[in-house]
Amino acid sequence: MLPSPLYVSAEYRLLVAGYKLRLCFITLGHKGTGIFKEYEMTEILIGTPDRIKKTANAIKKLRPAYSKILDFYEKIFTAQEKAAAKTEIKPAQLADDIISIKAKEKFPLFSLSEFSIDVNSSRKLFKKICKIINKSENHMSSAAEVIFAANENKKIDFNELYAALLHDDNASFGNIAAKLKTDRDALAFITYNSIKPSLSMFAESASKYLDKDDPWEKGYCPVCGNAPVISTFESDGKRFLTCCFCWHKWTVTRLFCPFCENKESKSLHYLFSEDEKEYRIDVCDRCNKYIKNVDTRIISRFVYPPLEQIATLHLDIMAKEKGFESGVPLELQV
Ligand SMILES: [Zn+2]
Ligand SMILES: [Zn+2]
Repeated sequence: MLPSPLYVSAEYRLLVAGYKLRLCFITLGHKGTGIFKEYEMTEILIGTPDRIKKTANAIKKLRPAYSKILDFYEKIFTAQEKAAAKTEIKPAQLADDIISIKAKEKFPLFSLSEFSIDVNSSRKLFKKICKIINKSENHMSSAAEVIFAANENKKIDFNELYAALLHDDNASFGNIAAKLKTDRDALAFITYNSIKPSLSMFAESASKYLDKDDPWEKGYCPVCGNAPVISTFESDGKRFLTCCFCWHKWTVTRLFCPFCENKESKSLHYLFSEDEKEYRIDVCDRCNKYIKNVDTRIISRFVYPPLEQIATLHLDIMAKEKGFESGVPLELQV
């Protein structure tokens, strides 16, 4: 039931579907991997509203087909960053014996229901997101209007709503949506996005329990156990995965499928286009899944992973056309 990190309407899908690239297949570990030159390092910084806007504008100039969808998500991400500055959570806490068991067994540190949420700041953001959706006039607009009105009339119990989402309690979440007479996907989108600042902050506080000298090397998030939404190459050619739920980032080896932990070069490939050297789609023959990868070393602008995820939808469409499946839920409505 957990919401798709990205909910893409037919309208947005059509906008980017025409954006085609000439892709070629490259097998990992073979000659093709030499294409990346070393460039000046680009550090991934903590997102700020101004940087998000600047980055979104730079992408819109490069790929105008993304203007409408980026206008929308830029507002959502900016609102989240602004809310983050006013969000306070109870920092993650774990007993020493639990930490060592989890590290030994490779269990994620926390279950989602243990994440602490700033309900007050989240509900303000919830209201803001409803307004953004409504003004954007997209497929969720009418649902957002109903949800906004329900909130104004004090019909939403936020503790109950957030608990249903974090406990992955399908039935309760469905009941809440039915009671509010609204679309559950739109409600899930708004709910998840309103707690995202708390989730990232909690994950950040939890990461102090991870052993820096013992690389995680797993395909699921060491903090919450969810799958990665995007992969990045950073300074020194190090590869990182970013969690689709709490947005924690961890390092893994380059030759590795996060979804089935395949490390065999002959069944790992990537799709690459000369026209967009900063991106590639890593695919695995064993599990048939793919993950998009951003080489931050050859991007001079600020890299904000949620924005990169949106601005590369054409790669998701292409991977799908080639028969590969997204490693995380991806709602590409047709
Ligand atoms: Zn996570
Ligand atoms: Zn795989």
